[in-house]
Amino acid sequence: MEVLNYDIIIVGTGLAGLRAAVEICRKNSRVKVALISKVQIMRAHSVCAEGGTAAVLHPEDGDSFELHAWDTIKGADFLADQDVVMHFVKICPEEMYLLDHWGIPWSRKEDGRINQRPFGGHTYPRATFAEDKTGFFEMQTLYDRLQMYENWDRFEEVFVTKLFIEDGKFHGLFAYDMLNGKFLVLKGKTVILATGGGGRIYAFTTFSHAVTGDGLALAYREGVPLKNMEFMQFHPTGLVPSGILMTEACRGEGGQLRNNKGERFMDRYAPEKMELAPRDIIARAEMTEILEGRGFKGPDGLDYVHLDLTHLGREKILERLPLIREVTMSYIGLDPIEKPIPVRPAQHYTMGGIDVDIDGRSKVPNLFAAGEVACNTLHGANRLGTNSTAECIVWGRITGEKALEFVENEKFEPEIPEGKIKDEEKRIVEFMQKDGKESIYQLRKELRQTMDRYVGVFRDEEGLKTAVNKIREIKQRFKNIKVHDKGMYYNTDLTTALELENMIDVAEVVAVGALERKESRGAHARRDYTKRDDKNYLKHTVAEYTPEGPRISYRDVKITIWKPVERKY
Ligand SMILES: Cc1cc2nc3c(=O)[nH]c(=O)nc-3n(C[C@H](O)[C@H](O)[C@H](O)COP(=O)(O)OP(=O)(O)OC[C@H]3O[C@@H](n4cnc5c(N)ncnc54)[C@H](O)[C@@H]3O)c2cc1C
Repeated sequence: MEVLNYDIIIVGTGLAGLRAAVEICRKNSRVKVALISKVQIMRAHSVCAEGGTAAVLHPEDGDSFELHAWDTIKGADFLADQDVVMHFVKICPEEMYLLDHWGIPWSRKEDGRINQRPFGGHTYPRATFAEDKTGFFEMQTLYDRLQMYENWDRFEEVFVTKLFIEDGKFHGLFAYDMLNGKFLVLKGKTVILATGGGGRIYAFTTFSHAVTGDGLALAYREGVPLKNMEFMQFHPTGLVPSGILMTEACRGEGGQLRNNKGERFMDRYAPEKMELAPRDIIARAEMTEILEGRGFKGPDGLDYVHLDLTHLGREKILERLPLIREVTMSYIGLDPIEKPIPVRPAQHYTMGGIDVDIDGRSKVPNLFAAGEVACNTLHGANRLGTNSTAECIVWGRITGEKALEFVENEKFEPEIPEGKIKDEEKRIVEFMQKDGKESIYQLRKELRQTMDRYVGVFRDEEGLKTAVNKIREIKQRFKNIKVHDKGMYYNTDLTTALELENMIDVAEVVAVGALERKESRGAHARRDYTKRDDKNYLKHTVAEYTPEGPRISYRDVKITIWKPVERKY
């Protein structure tokens, strides 16, 4: 078994992980950094981000930090911590200009300034974009920048299975090196988890297959709480039948939603903002149209509405939304210049995550989390589009700085007891030898169907109880799985089983949190408690691991400027 020593370990190479790595390396060329990803570095989900990144770049045209903060807080249905939001909006522009200096090809206005487009819930067009491939260009720019430094090592296609936390501190982790068919132990003085969200606990999702909530489950099982996990975002425009995202930029550029009567139905739900209302409101509007019979019949129950771009014209679609056209043409043989696109709400974002403070620090002082895996309470009950890539970049930088500070200032030598390493090795080997009756693929399918059906856009007590029971049944059956592949090299049967174990834990926290929150707020819409209840639930949900299931408690929201009001668009 190889045991390697590092100062800082970053798990995850999406926008958050890469930004953290750049920050550390550019500030200190002596610290040793390990960058780990279970897929190749540039295949992290972040390359899929399409529409843009929020930042106040043009105050001369009327935008301001206060406006960006207000939009975020109102969008969050007042569950965002307001100090965190103010901190965020002030750093976003700095980061957009840094990326500009590092070479990102931002789309530009006629006068040469960086262009920005409208996005849902934002009162000012502040989505900074590079065509409709923003995430790809951001990743590429950060990755290029990282090549300037030599004090980092790459661990690609290396799957982390356990964090070693001893005496309240992180000491290292255990990983399965798929490519080289061996196990690794990395000792580290500090860790940044940047492992992304848990989108793939749902079947109909916009997310890449690798987004299985691993970091959430790894931290949770070691006693680091998860926060606000019941708030799952459903994006209004998932392509039917695959779920591939039709970016909100389609509506930012003027796309319209229509039902089977040809009506622009959003005038009944958000007359002022129409198709640019926040995602939770549009997702509910679409589901209401579909459930009341004004949708179109889709395959396997995936009924849909139309996203109509035809009136935008060929030139605009080719210039601003080329990826959308490429995707619809190759996946469903439809040209959006000619015909409307079939769409319905698809799971799209995990608002909750590892419970961290404004610096991205968890209750374990040398364990940080950044990006979608983290819940620093920026997004509250509903994230605004473009605030996520911005969050990844902002807290990539912040956690990079803070992790470096820890290493520079604390005298700490990580030590992992030999027995603990042996135990984890034994656990993974036993996993590979599992020869039970249950198929991991069947269990995964059932888990996802359960989440889609009972923990979706609309929820109620009966459905949520059914979901919790079903998830616990799957958890029991998981003990009796079969892993067919017994080999050490690229054993995807094994990694699928490990991912499923993580997904089960994450799904349980989501469903239990949703059952306990007896109100409707942001993306959490209960049919049996249809109103927001500030008296009892203007609170963050904190979930702690116990072998019997999550223990739920609540924590106050930080309200510094804006008191909650009714949310109208
Ligand atoms: C299709 C799509 C389009 C989007 N467009 C936008 C947009 O325009 N604007 C916006 O603001 N947001 C957008 N989002 C949301 C945004 O893309 C994500 O929230 C963000 O990219 C998450 O980045 P991240 O760095 O947190 O994690 P990710 O990019 O998901 O990276 C996670 C990393 O963790 C690694 N990892 C995970 N588990 C393990 C493990 N067990 N061992 C080792 N490594 C592991 C992975 O290999 C990967 O490297 C979009 C989302 C989708 C689905």
